[in-house]
Amino acid sequence: MHPDGTCRYEYVNPAIEAIFGLTPDQALNDPMTVVGRMHPDDASQVRHHYGHLAASQTPLRYQYRVHHPKQGLLWVEEYAQPESLPDGSVLWHGQIVDITEFKVMGSELSLSRARLREASELAQLGHWEMDLRTNGVWWCETTCNMLGCNLCDFELTAEEHWGRVHPDDLDRVKANHEAALCARQPNIKPIECRIRRDNGEFIWATHWARIRFDELGEPVQIFGTTQDVSERKRLEQTLIESKMAADRANQFKSDFVLGMSHELRTPLNAVLGFGQLLQHDPDLTPEQAANLEEIQKAGQHLVGLIDEILDLSRVESGRLELSTSTEDCGMLAEESLSLVTALAEERRVRLELDVGDGIAVDCDPIRLRQVIVNLLSNGIKYNRPNGEVKLSVRRQGDGEQESVRIDIKDTGIGIPQDRLDDVFRPFERLGREHVEGTGIGLVISKKLVEAMGGTLTVESRQGSGSRFSIIMPLGNGAHPPVSVMPSVTMKAKKARGLVLHIDDSTTNLRLLQRVLSRSNGVDYMGSPTGSLGLDLAIAYKPRLIFLDLELPDMHGFEVLERLRSMAATCHIPVVGLTARASAKDISKGLEAGFDRYIGMPFDIDEVMSAIQAYMADDERSLS
Ligand code: ADP
Repeated sequence: MHPDGTCRYEYVNPAIEAIFGLTPDQALNDPMTVVGRMHPDDASQVRHHYGHLAASQTPLRYQYRVHHPKQGLLWVEEYAQPESLPDGSVLWHGQIVDITEFKVMGSELSLSRARLREASELAQLGHWEMDLRTNGVWWCETTCNMLGCNLCDFELTAEEHWGRVHPDDLDRVKANHEAALCARQPNIKPIECRIRRDNGEFIWATHWARIRFDELGEPVQIFGTTQDVSERKRLEQTLIESKMAADRANQFKSDFVLGMSHELRTPLNAVLGFGQLLQHDPDLTPEQAANLEEIQKAGQHLVGLIDEILDLSRVESGRLELSTSTEDCGMLAEESLSLVTALAEERRVRLELDVGDGIAVDCDPIRLRQVIVNLLSNGIKYNRPNGEVKLSVRRQGDGEQESVRIDIKDTGIGIPQDRLDDVFRPFERLGREHVEGTGIGLVISKKLVEAMGGTLTVESRQGSGSRFSIIMPLGNGAHPPVSVMPSVTMKAKKARGLVLHIDDSTTNLRLLQRVLSRSNGVDYMGSPTGSLGLDLAIAYKPRLIFLDLELPDMHGFEVLERLRSMAATCHIPVVGLTARASAKDISKGLEAGFDRYIGMPFDIDEVMSAIQAYMADDERSLS
């Protein structure tokens, strides 16, 4: 560079071709050809730097862009050392290096870093490193932002890092790290904990971390990520609270239904009981008898409805207690079928049973029978005269997948394809209100089967019958011994003696008194309270006691206990006669020591059979 501002090259090597697309001669003849290949935005800067640095005799290091005629845009870096000449010129000794590749890599790297940062911010996922040798910890920018610190590339100590963890979570988090360190496992189990932000608030975060080991296998660093999951935690908490509120509401509903059912049963007992008494009246006209039958039918429907609503409410509130055992599925199927034979005969529907040998099923037998009976009754009810219902029991699948399949297939009216799901909705009758039913049997059945670990599905087509399939776990417990009870034939002898009835409802007392008044030789005595009942039992030593559970002065179980504890009364048979008559109530009652348990509204025949069993001076013959 000359003092007058002109310049020329003293020497140019052939490598100039690769960078500027010029020959050394072209550059030596006209230095402006070189300047002409520089990016227009950079050329003036390069010239400015040379001028400026020449004055201060400072070496030049500068990056700029060049337009190569064949290779396009290149990035170069120029290094040059100035040397002052006596005539005032400056001689630059320099070299130019093609750095295009580094520049591309560098920009790709910064692009990747920008993307990573954006992704971290979007996912609220920060990362950090802990040097186990120096105890130093580094947080990335997202971690800093997440915790409300303004500094990025923040350096802190392990103690400060742990100090952010909520005191109630700290031991758990540290133990989790320690466990992996002790076991020399690279991966630390993901863990959730609360971390303090700079403003003192806590956020919920999930940590994933990995330990890095040196070549000797010593742990040297922990690399971890921290994700803010506070929003998810908040939603979870809301869900938990909503579930608790729903459970409370369900509980309330279930208690309400239980109470209502009890309240409804008592008057129904009177309706049905006095109705049954009237049915025995020889002076009834045929019209009165028909009317009475309608009353009885409606009453029975209500009893069935109450039972089903109770069941549904128990299943829905999760209060259903199942007593599971391994049962012979064939026996259960046969028993169920026998319970619907009368209905099938009445409707002129043929029943068929097809049961594989020795198929055991894990279930609550009472509940599975209830489900099969319900499906069989539906198959009969929604059938046509001379139709058929087939019950089959098969094993299906193999190994762990093996299960029991119970199919109830009918040739009835079927269900439209688009209404198949509706049959499992409470009170959905699909417009078949003319057929006797409540519309909740299938809902209960499905829930019962699911509670026993099985599934209940349906396939059907309008007009071509339906198939309900129960899939249950194959029984893997011991097969229950099939108990063969000796059948007892009673030589019907006349019942005689005194019956004591303890019940706070005067209607119930009057009803049983009327029922028993038909039996010559049986005397009746009623008591509305437990304590009077006990006094009467001691004084009159009845041959049989009917006892309600809910008495104004004491619970029926207490009356029973006292009766059993006194020599004068301990031998007297006691029959529970109460509106609390679910399967669970019955088994609780029998466990408490009742000889028999009859639910209300009671069937007169059931009461009379108890009278006969405990008050007739019979001779029993075993066969
Ligand atoms: P219910 O029989 O007391 O009405 P369910 O819950 O057992 O109550 O059945 C619900 C409805 O599903 C019935 O009202 C009937 O319309 C339909 N349904 C059930 N089983 C069958 C069947 N086997 N064939 C045709 N329709 C059926």
